[in-house]
Amino acid sequence: MDKIDIDKKAFELVIKEEMALKDIYNKIENLAFVNSAKVLTAMQKENIMETDLLGTTGYGYNDLGRDKIERVFARVLGAEDALVRCQIISGTHALTTALFGILRPGDTMLCITGTPYDTIHEVIGIKDNNSSLQSFGVYYEQIELLNDDFDYSLIKASLEDRKVKMVYIQRSRGYSDRKSITIDKVKEVCDFIKKIDQDVIIMVDNCYTEFVENLTPVEVGADLIAGSLIKNLGGGIAPNGGYIAGRKDLVALAAERLNVPGQGKEVGPSGDFNRHVLMGLYMAPNAVASSVKMAILTSKVLERLGYDVDPKYDEVRADIVQTIKFGNEQDLLSYVRGIQKASAIDSSATVMPTDMPGYDDKIIMASGSFTQGSSIELSCDGPIRMPYIAYQQGSLTYEYGRLALMLAIGKLI
Ligand SMILES: *Cc1c(COP(=O)(O)O)cnc(C)c1O
Repeated sequence: MDKIDIDKKAFELVIKEEMALKDIYNKIENLAFVNSAKVLTAMQKENIMETDLLGTTGYGYNDLGRDKIERVFARVLGAEDALVRCQIISGTHALTTALFGILRPGDTMLCITGTPYDTIHEVIGIKDNNSSLQSFGVYYEQIELLNDDFDYSLIKASLEDRKVKMVYIQRSRGYSDRKSITIDKVKEVCDFIKKIDQDVIIMVDNCYTEFVENLTPVEVGADLIAGSLIKNLGGGIAPNGGYIAGRKDLVALAAERLNVPGQGKEVGPSGDFNRHVLMGLYMAPNAVASSVKMAILTSKVLERLGYDVDPKYDEVRADIVQTIKFGNEQDLLSYVRGIQKASAIDSSATVMPTDMPGYDDKIIMASGSFTQGSSIELSCDGPIRMPYIAYQQGSLTYEYGRLALMLAIGKLI
């Protein structure tokens, strides 16, 4: 039998730190149980049958499986309706589809969580692009977070000052060093906003947060959420895709933007997608729990090694992202390369910092994944800029994550 080459000190350190995490893991496993019950119940209520797993071709008329799957997602997310499609490439496309579906020339979009995720900059027009929302005459305004929470007085002033069509909230931190937004905070700000203007549409970038807490933004006052199926809800099985969920009228607008005015949700062939996306959702509660446990273990071990980590191992989490501040380029590269070497796919690759479409700095990215760019699979990346932060997320199983961590810290010890 081939033996895996793990540094003895690294092995012992991980095992030792893990012992202190049993109670925390227990809570995560309980939540995975609750989420599994949600998924199972939704599939049974919609009476998913073997024939629903077969997809359609061409226009995709009468795709009963696709329609049922969207109702399953709506149930699981506590939404009125959902759009779950393979024609949506990923999270960025889901968000873009929703934004262009809803906003019209002259409308104002107000982001209340500071600068949005890098790939959304050209969509909004923060970075010039001839196809941006701004190029169509949509106004954009932004309010920074204040000590990792919403700046309530500025939000109030903005909403009272002019008509805002949409308030936009990004929960996960993206490539920033702020904290991710918990569901409690989402609820508080939604209540606050709706008291000032009950017509404003609250849209949430929900990437990386699904199944990490027991409620979704649409269950606490948001109107629409969007996310990626190569992250949490795809469970590592969905080959691509994105979802948009929330108010029925808004989901319909997004569907007509994705497809054709007059031909919204009723068209769109599912091909091979139905079986994969459904099986992915089935696996997702467990994949997310594994990912959260892996994030916590990483936090504990790297803190022990002297690095500044966020969140700390015992902090409340809103997403599956763990950051490690390496402070210098060398340690960042060494750790990210270690994660790549611990992958099942492309383990022989030495990853290099490169320019990526949609991102401003060079990025180093370890993702030896079965699905390209999938970050519910263990992946670790970071922009090559001070203070050299690695953003790590995912792990389809806890065991593979734990192995990868043992391998990746070998050089740091
Ligand atoms: C990943 C991510 C996106 C983009 O999703 P993709 O699936 O990579 O296109 C958008 N916003 C946030 C906060 C993300 O983490």
